[in-house]
Amino acid sequence: MISKKKFLEALEIIDNMFPEAHGELNWQTAFQLLIATILSAQATDVGVNKVTPALFKRYPDALSLSKADLDEVESYIRTIGLYHNKAKNIIKTAQKLVEWGYTEGLPKDKKKLQELPGVGRKTANVVLGEVYAIPGIAVDTHVERIAKRLDVVNADATVLQVEEKLMAYIPEDRWVSSHHHLIFFGRYHCTAKNPHCEACPVIGYCKYGQNFQKVAQKGDIKK
Ligand code: SF4
Repeated sequence: MISKKKFLEALEIIDNMFPEAHGELNWQTAFQLLIATILSAQATDVGVNKVTPALFKRYPDALSLSKADLDEVESYIRTIGLYHNKAKNIIKTAQKLVEWGYTEGLPKDKKKLQELPGVGRKTANVVLGEVYAIPGIAVDTHVERIAKRLDVVNADATVLQVEEKLMAYIPEDRWVSSHHHLIFFGRYHCTAKNPHCEACPVIGYCKYGQNFQKVAQKGDIKK
């Protein structure tokens, strides 16, 4: 397991690789970020950004989406994976928000947000961090992969264990920014299939990458 000190050294390097890292979903209001984040589960931000301009034009807020017709909502998001369930979830989420009196803004409470259909810990953390600067580490597929490759947690750790360990290692005032830096690092450098270990400035901290390199070099020799 990597020590806290070593991990923070590696994170410093990662931070400097992507100083401009930021959320890549397009949104104007807290409600729109919530909806875009629900839609982004098992989909790319690029794919979500393609459908949300028309969706938000038709349903700009919780009130309008709460009264929406399911088939019509589906027609706006059909290009996104799991669109049928997501359409149901975003309408129900809008209805719940209206019922709670949030025709503008969102509850600033993580547990309350997670009562909304389609909203898990990751989505709640993303929205609270982005909109209200409430500290949290949203663990998506990139953050989880990097935490495991850098040996912050065991390979079989749950998402919650990853989140708790990262929160224990990273100072609270860096949780939101580190989440963005780790996502960019995972999206553009330490990718799932072909991580750029040969040009990775944190390979000295990464046993996974060192082994990956050895295997790749052996493959080259055989050729
Ligand atoms: S060495 Fe490879 S696996 Fe390790 S962090 Fe760098 S890119 Fe990712």
